[in-house]
Amino acid sequence: MTIFKTAKELTAYLVEKKNAGVPIGFVPTMGALHEGHLSLIHQSKGQNTLTVCSIFVNPTQFNNQEDFKHYPISIEKDIEQLIKAGCDILFLPTEKEIYPQNYQSRHYNLGSLEHVLEGYYRPGHFQGVCQVVDILLSIVNPDNIYIGQKDYQQCMVITRLVDLLGKRDQIHIHIAPTVRESDGLAMSSRNRRLSGSQRTKALTIFKELISIKASLHTTPLEQLKKEAHRHLEDAGFSVDYVEIANAETLEPASGTGEHLVALIAASLDNVRLIDNLSLN
Ligand code: AMP
Repeated sequence: MTIFKTAKELTAYLVEKKNAGVPIGFVPTMGALHEGHLSLIHQSKGQNTLTVCSIFVNPTQFNNQEDFKHYPISIEKDIEQLIKAGCDILFLPTEKEIYPQNYQSRHYNLGSLEHVLEGYYRPGHFQGVCQVVDILLSIVNPDNIYIGQKDYQQCMVITRLVDLLGKRDQIHIHIAPTVRESDGLAMSSRNRRLSGSQRTKALTIFKELISIKASLHTTPLEQLKKEAHRHLEDAGFSVDYVEIANAETLEPASGTGEHLVALIAASLDNVRLIDNLSLN
């Protein structure tokens, strides 16, 4: 695996490959890698000649400075895992490399995506995601990008971003299923911050998603949301939302005739976890 630290060198290398017709797959991450990230690398490797992974903890997408300060970092172990997974290139930029002094931020029109769920509870978060993904796409210029359904709304935002950039025909977006621990907890870098007892409680999120799915046709949606909310609070969570939403718009569902997704965001102390489940 070759490690690039500057955008200029990476772009120069990739332009040559691209001109030679080499298909390039891209997996952007913030590091602290786990099997969820590696599943994206494996998918990219199966569909491209060259797989590029980036690790960059993007400050502009953190609306909470404490969360940014405590975001787990394990570069040495990440590198080992990427080599083992057969990743070809790791882009490991500094903050200055991504946001040089003359960087001019723009506003991305994300429509209602910016105001619901994660958009509402993490103001500015998706603008930050768009900033970094826009920059990374211009550096890597991949044929394929691999992202995880674990971050359901982020997948919608990145799809919208690729549209806004007019790159829908050049960049194919692949959304990969959520990889879970054996008991069902969605893998997340933030899980590393959970204590033993918090780790046990964390499973409540997945249990509630499963329970919503099981009772979808027998219990009113409002009641399902309320019950899940209460169970999470009983387990010690501070709950941002339990939503049953239209899977295409993320607007609250009015009935079960639409394609639905259940989404939960809740914190144990300062560790904020999100998960979601397609319902039908
Ligand atoms: P992050 O490092 O958290 O920014 O995640 C980088 C990419 O990995 C994003 O596209 C995430 O959606 C994806 N990802 C994170 N956790 C998982 C998971 N458990 N299963 C599949 N993909 C994931």
